[in-house]
Amino acid sequence: MVVAALCVAPISGAKRLAPPQNHATAEAPANAEPKPLSTRVVAYQIQATLVPREHKINASETLTYKNLTGQPQQTFPFHLYLNAFQPQSTFMTEVRLDGTRGSSSGTSWDPKHYGSETVTRLEVDGMGDVTKNIHFIHPDDNNTQDRTVFQVTLPTPVAPGASVTFRMDFVDVMPEVVERTGYKRDFYMVGQWFPKIGVWWKNQWNCHQFHAATEFFADFGTFDVKVTVPQDDVVGAAGDLVSSTNNSGGTKTLTFHSEDVHDFSWTASPHFTDVEDFWTGSAGTVRIHLLMSPGNMATAPRYLQALKGTLAYYDKNVGPYPYDRITVVDPPHGALDAGGMEYPTLITAGTAWWMPKGLLTPEVVVAHEFGHQYWYGMVATNEFEEAWLDEGINSYEEVKVMDALYGPKTSVINFPFAQMGDAESQRVSYLSMPDYDPLTRFAWQFVGDQSYGGITYGKTATVLLTLEKLLGENKMRDVMHQYFMRYRFTHPTGADFLKTIDDVSGQNLDWYFNQAVSGTNVLDYEIRDVRSDPVKWYESVSTGPRVYRSYVTVHRKGDFVFPVDVKVTFDDKSSTTEHWDGRDRWIRYTYERSAKVAAAQIDPDHKVWLDRNFFNNSRTVSSYDSTTHKLLNIWVFVNEWISQLVAWIA
Ligand SMILES: [Zn+2]
Repeated sequence: MVVAALCVAPISGAKRLAPPQNHATAEAPANAEPKPLSTRVVAYQIQATLVPREHKINASETLTYKNLTGQPQQTFPFHLYLNAFQPQSTFMTEVRLDGTRGSSSGTSWDPKHYGSETVTRLEVDGMGDVTKNIHFIHPDDNNTQDRTVFQVTLPTPVAPGASVTFRMDFVDVMPEVVERTGYKRDFYMVGQWFPKIGVWWKNQWNCHQFHAATEFFADFGTFDVKVTVPQDDVVGAAGDLVSSTNNSGGTKTLTFHSEDVHDFSWTASPHFTDVEDFWTGSAGTVRIHLLMSPGNMATAPRYLQALKGTLAYYDKNVGPYPYDRITVVDPPHGALDAGGMEYPTLITAGTAWWMPKGLLTPEVVVAHEFGHQYWYGMVATNEFEEAWLDEGINSYEEVKVMDALYGPKTSVINFPFAQMGDAESQRVSYLSMPDYDPLTRFAWQFVGDQSYGGITYGKTATVLLTLEKLLGENKMRDVMHQYFMRYRFTHPTGADFLKTIDDVSGQNLDWYFNQAVSGTNVLDYEIRDVRSDPVKWYESVSTGPRVYRSYVTVHRKGDFVFPVDVKVTFDDKSSTTEHWDGRDRWIRYTYERSAKVAAAQIDPDHKVWLDRNFFNNSRTVSSYDSTTHKLLNIWVFVNEWISQLVAWIA
């Protein structure tokens, strides 16, 4: 195992070892103002004080919003995500119906999971106090109890091109860790915690309520955040540490700065061990912080190896990582619900003291959550409406990373008695519920949580793995690289992604996308029948060399039409490969040879990951040995394990 020398030291309260290196300015002339990577629509300044005894955060926020909408704006929507953690919210109503990653359906209400976010004052520069103009809206449903989105109408409109500054005070009540955020004992994972303005997109405001299955969407900008916490807390945050000052009363105030990102999260615990390291890629040096919880240090080298391998893979194959930092938060015992989550330049992982090397969950989670830096973080698609563009593309790249680092057949489970690669795990999760929802469904409109997870993550990955076999690995790598480079920092749509695939491949792939992306078609081919008969079957005594007429019948069981190869092997070991366009429901191949057909196999090179059932893809004339049976036992184990894993990773 390749692990760099670890420098273990707490970061909070300490000076940075080196000044932050602004990658964006690496090629800019000296003294030139760095060119932003993104169109900066928002500038947040937040001052937050943690009140640990009450699990509260008292904060003030100044948001300067630049009106780039091309028209006057008078009404502005804001997210208050923490209000999802209330029994009457849309989020909890949906959890109650069908569960979500941390809670099963029918879960009873536990008051310790109550969370809230209350704006106590809202002023607008030049317009005065507009607190009384706040009212909650419910753009996605008629749930008047949901308080996750409010809108405020200003006395006068903000002209196109002008900026407006909102000043507000707010109070967060943090839940005990639930759905990625909250506290556990003295550990805090503070995500989705401040009033966040919606996005003007497709000529209207896009500010969805917080749903059980939805994640996030926000504009790029700058964050200057001051966090006041107990002096013995070790703090990690999605920004560069600018300063740290001790206050009277046993607290300290840390100041962070971040730019060209669309969110800011932070974490604090007196029990973190900060494992610091560096990685250097094409855009410069990245400072790594692993914030390890007690008892989990054995996993630190595994996290680091996975993280550096993922950084290197993305840098080489997708594009440069332009930030100078990445923090990995290892949640403490009992707080795993805070794990497996992504924020710009800060991700949460997850492990346990007993984690065996043969279970690569810690590695998968790091590869997955880091990958989000590219898709959720920089490309920044709308996760409410097109979750597949983030989670799905990210799951495909997760397979590529994990297979490159840990081997295609052993990248998720690697025991002597059971092994599984990540591509197979994505396929299994897709097949758990393949035909209810297309990839393109809005995240909260899936039939349920299992379909959302299986389709958004597993199906997208499987669709792209199959496409990779169709186009070739190099071409597919070029597709992903071009998509990232063209659309980073721009909020593209699914149409943009599909257009990039067509452009780079030089093909019109509508026939595939219509079935795989916007359709719910399921792909399943089977060998229906294999038989041989003597041509002169009516002769009781054969005269001369025997000739057989052999038949192989292939059936397209599913409604997904896809070209397949069929390899037919004869009992003299000769073989032939047929290519079928799959358009009809079945095809029969007929041969007249001196040898009988011995076996037939669809997709002999295992290119078609979308095929629902691999077991009916082949048939031999003589009965198979017991291998199939053994395989099934492992299959059951792996299936259960994978559905757990998939349910957990966000
Ligand atoms: Zn994810």
